[in-house]
Parts: sequence; C-alpha cells; structure tokens
Amino acid sequence: MRHKQFLQGGRGKAEAYFTDLVVTPPQGPYNPRDIVEDHMLDRLKLLLVAGVLCASSLVMAEARLRPVSIGSESNLFVWSDTCNVYVLRDGDAALLIDLGDGSVLDHLGEIGVRRIEWVLFTHHHREQCQGVAKLAAWKPQIAAPEIERALFEEPTRFRKAKPTLGDPYTVHGASYVRPSMEPIRPNRTFKDLDVFTWRGREFRCLDTKGNSPGGMSYLWKLEGRWVAFSGDVMLDGAKMHTWFDTEWDYGFAKGLYELISSVSLLHSYEPAHLLPAHGGVIDRATVQLQEYQGKLRKLARLYVRGYEINTFGAADQDTVSKPTSIPDLWQVTKHLYKFKRKDFWPNFGILIADSGHALVFDCGLIGRDLLARSLAAMQDQLGLQKIDAVLITHMHGDHFLEVPYLRQNWGTQVWTLQDVAGVCEHPERYDYAAMIPAYQAGFDSLPIDRAFQRGERFEWEGYTFTVDWMPGQTQFGCCIHGQIDGRHIALTGDNLFGDPSDPQQNGHEAVVARNSAIFEEGYIYGAEYLWKLQPDLIVAGHSWVMDRPRQMIERFASWAHQIRDAYVGLSAEEDYRYMFDPYWVRAEPYRIFVKAGQTVDVTLHIRNFLSRPQKHRIEVHAPRGVNVEPSLLEGSVGPESSGRFPLRVNVTSETKPGVYAVALDVTVDAKRYGEWFDMIVCVEP
Ligand SMILES: [Zn+2]
Ligand SMILES: [Zn+2]
Repeated sequence: MRHKQFLQGGRGKAEAYFTDLVVTPPQGPYNPRDIVEDHMLDRLKLLLVAGVLCASSLVMAEARLRPVSIGSESNLFVWSDTCNVYVLRDGDAALLIDLGDGSVLDHLGEIGVRRIEWVLFTHHHREQCQGVAKLAAWKPQIAAPEIERALFEEPTRFRKAKPTLGDPYTVHGASYVRPSMEPIRPNRTFKDLDVFTWRGREFRCLDTKGNSPGGMSYLWKLEGRWVAFSGDVMLDGAKMHTWFDTEWDYGFAKGLYELISSVSLLHSYEPAHLLPAHGGVIDRATVQLQEYQGKLRKLARLYVRGYEINTFGAADQDTVSKPTSIPDLWQVTKHLYKFKRKDFWPNFGILIADSGHALVFDCGLIGRDLLARSLAAMQDQLGLQKIDAVLITHMHGDHFLEVPYLRQNWGTQVWTLQDVAGVCEHPERYDYAAMIPAYQAGFDSLPIDRAFQRGERFEWEGYTFTVDWMPGQTQFGCCIHGQIDGRHIALTGDNLFGDPSDPQQNGHEAVVARNSAIFEEGYIYGAEYLWKLQPDLIVAGHSWVMDRPRQMIERFASWAHQIRDAYVGLSAEEDYRYMFDPYWVRAEPYRIFVKAGQTVDVTLHIRNFLSRPQKHRIEVHAPRGVNVEPSLLEGSVGPESSGRFPLRVNVTSETKPGVYAVALDVTVDAKRYGEWFDMIVCVEP
C-alpha cells in the first residue's frame, strides 16, 4: 500500500505512586504535577524532612481529590485514574471535566459535593468516559463536542466485522478511534466557539482536534487570564499523549497538521495554565505550547514521504527500464520485466528464465484484462511457458489482488517469508491497515504454499535467491535478493521509493503505526539491512525501479533514526513505543467469529519495551452476553519481551447476532492506561 489513488482499482500516573493528600505544599500555588510526576523518592525525602509521614503510611494512605490552586480559585480539584477528572465545585454541586473510570464518584463527598450537574467531555476516548455506567445514579447532564457526537452515541458503528479501506476514522480499515463500550447520549453538544455557562462561570469551547477527531478544549477566564481544560492536546513538558491517535491517514499527516493548528490557536490565547487530561497541570503554558509546536512541525517534516509523491513521483518511478515489443511491458534487465505506463503503479515483476519458467514478484493493481493480455503476449513473444511461483513482498492486500488469477489460470504457487504468511492467510486475526479483506476483492485470505524461514535461500532455474526479514513500512515484510543478469538486485516491497540521484530525497514511504511498524522493527532495521546488503538495483513495489541506490539508502537510514528520535522527544512515556505502537497489548485473534453458545480461545499478547520487568493488570470488560475467562489478568513480562496469556471467550446462547467490542483495561506498573485496547466478537446468525 502506497497511495490513496491505488485504492480504487485500482483504488495519570496512578494514585499508587502517591496517594497522600494531607500534605499541603510548602508554599505558593499548589501544583498537582509535584505529586503526580515527582519521583516517589523525592517526595519521601520531603515528607520525612517534614516529619509528617513515614514511607509505609505514605503508600497505604487513601487516595483523595486534590485541590488545584490557580490564582485564588479554591473550588477546583483533580482526580487521576485513567485520565484526569477536574471537579469544579459550587456549594454542594459540581461540574466535572471528563470522567475517567468513574472512581472519582466515590470521593466527591470528601469535598462536600452531593450533586453533579454537568459532565463535560473533552473528547470521546474510552479512558475519558469508561466509568459512565457508574454515573447513572448521579443523573448529571452530559456535554461533548458536536463533531464527536456519533462516536458517543453510536460507538459500535466504529467497529466492523469486515472493515473496508474507506471506513470513516480508519487508516485503511484499522480504526483510530476508541469510542465508549456503551452509547453515551449527550444532553448538549458544543460547536467551536460556543459558550457554556455554569453558575456564572463561562467556558469558551474551542475546537482543538488533532489527537481526537473532534477534541475540544474548554477555556475559562480566571482573574484576567485564560486557563484551558485541554484534553489531549499536549502533556506537561511539551509532550504528546499518544501518536497513534493522531495518525488519521496513510502518512499524509492530516491529524498532525490539525494538531499543530490547535496548538498554535491555544498558544495565541496565551493561557496561564493548561489542565490536560493526563499528567500534571501545565505551567508556563505559552512557552510549552511554543516549544511543542516546534517539535510537531519538525516531526511533520520528517513524517511526510521522502520522495515527491504528488509532483515528480511518476517521472521518478523508473528511469532505467527499456520498452519491449509488448506495449505495457518494460525490460529491467535481460530476464526481468515490469509494467510501465504513464502514472501507473501496479505491483508486478516477472523473471523469465531461458527455460520459459517464470517467477512473479507481487501481483496486484494491474487489472485482469491487461494481465491476461500481457501474459499471452509473453507466451508468444518471450517464450513464457509456466509461472512457477509468485513471491509476496509484504502483507498489504494490493500486492496480491491478482494472485488468485495466477493460481487458477497458471497453476502458480504462492511463496513468501514466514513472518508475512500469517497475516496473508488469516488477516481477521489482526487489526492492521490495508489487509486483503478491506479491498473487497472477492477473497479474504491468501493461502501460502511455501513459507521461508528468515534468511532462507532457494535455487530456481540456475538463480539463487535469499528471502529475508526486512521490515520497514510494516514489520510484515521481506527482502528477496539475488544475482540477476550480473547485478545484485533487491526486491524490497513498499519501503523506499524515489530518485536515488536526487540528494533531496531519502526515499522513505509512509509512516503508519497501524502497519505495525515501531522503528526498531521497521524503518531503522530495514534501512540498516539494505545498507549492509548494498544492492546494485532495487525493484520496489508499485513499479519503482531504483538504480545505484547506495546514497539514497544512506539518507534513508539517517532519516529513520531522526524520525524515531523526534518521537522520543515528544513522548512522555519511559519508552516512546508505548505512545507510538497501538499493539503493545493485543488479542489474537483480534476478530473472532462465533455463533451464540460457542467458546473460542484467544491469546493476549503483552509487550514490555523496557529493560526491566513490567507488571501488568488487565481487566477484560466484556459486554452483556460475552463472557471472558479470566476476566482479570495479573502478572509480569520480562525485560524487552512479550508475554502470552490465554483467554477463553464464550458467547451465551441468548446473545443476538452482531458486532461486540471487548475492552482491555490496562494498568502497567503503577500507571493506569484504561481501556486503550480492544478485540471484536462477531456473533453470526
Ligand atoms: Zn503497496
Ligand atoms: Zn484521549
């Protein structure tokens, strides 16, 4: 997958850290960041010096609502669980900004609150609202951004048994929204610049989308300066909450540009403080917003493709192949051919041995007629007799749309690397972008006849090829390389494209977290692999041919490190991969298809990116009619490794056909992430 045009046929740190509230800050305005983010050791020292508490009572102390003192305001409090919940008190009534897992409700009495009049959601993410069922007894009014109304009211619309490339709020079928498990019906929705008044306090509703598709900030003028309840726009330290929520398209940065606009707008208000949905209160907000914008702009420049996709792409695609007697077929080397035509981006290469046997490399986006006609012409004019196998470079459906045709009409076998095979054969087990079912091509799975081990060699008609793991754009990719007509040729799929002779181009293809592509198992690995391989010629996906790519590979490798470092600089996590990778907790299969009454086994994969053991606590939140055992998983995963944990999903016999989401509520070490991840249960009639 490279490009939109191919799609159409073408085409809070948890309270456990610090739970004491008895302590009053030494002096000056209270800053929850002190509590939330300081190292526990520092706090301990402070407390021991103050002689207030000993360490054990610190840990045991009960969590309480914490006051947020901004100016002389004494009625603002914060509670942190899966997000920050801000409580604005007026007598015994309160207004809440976001809700988190609902545990705040058990603590409102501590500050004399008996009624919740309003809950204002900054955005739809589950960790903002996952406690909504507990809210029923309080009967508050609920408000949310108008743009996200459907995400609140009809959450199941955004989880599909069979996604398609164009589904709203997806990256080619992989959803980037995280709506509540149950519908939430707002009493009121806000448009940009609406004013909401509560007991004499005015809030300006500001569209600050970018992390969430309709994310909103609520601006409140307090003693002459703006204070913003800013949701996920920015975290303290000029950091980003999550990358994968801002990735709204296939590497064209729509979400990122929106976020930058929102940050710029907020900056123009010169807010005194931001009250974000995660982490501590942001002081020096104007300075931080400025710094953040700079980091995001730098990221955007690194992020958008390293070749001229919309301008010179067609001109740069291939400047070395020669036309043949067959109009669309071009000769790359004596025995290797591809298609070429103006602004045509099919996936196809064919190596025709002197014997008449052939190997094909990827086969998709060509069109059945052109493929059939061209193969017939190759029989007549180039001695083609048999296509022994088609080798698949990576998991994206557009690289094998025409493979069933080859299998059926030419008896062609399908070969690929073992790492790639699983996603081609069982895409429903995963939640990645651009898998074959999303193409609606009449087949939802590609059986693989031969799966190579990493680095395995094969001999074919006097040629020797190596098939090796080469991630990049996706971790499910390979490099096929060998000597063809005296040149060392690498077939690299969709990792780099461009004109190697242009020093402005580093060639990188889309960065898409939903391809499963953390840089260490993506572009960095792939670039270093190619650097060591030193091919003379690259034959990439979408008919790109790149001659003498050495210097472009160098630029590609240097870029891969730079962009990873840009994410590291934006990450508030100890390891950037927690905010970049949407799959560090994942159920496999991601989609299960069952009938009422059936039971299915699922494996939960939990990844630890850190160099020390990581403890986890995962609560499985299943809807009525779906039972998951165990419903609570507590354990640990060793340093830099993945743990696998069995789950058993049973659908009761009364459950109606339909699509059900099961949320995975995650706590790692002391950090409450909330319902970041899910799996889908499709109950069939
Ligand atoms: Zn592609
Ligand atoms: Zn959020």
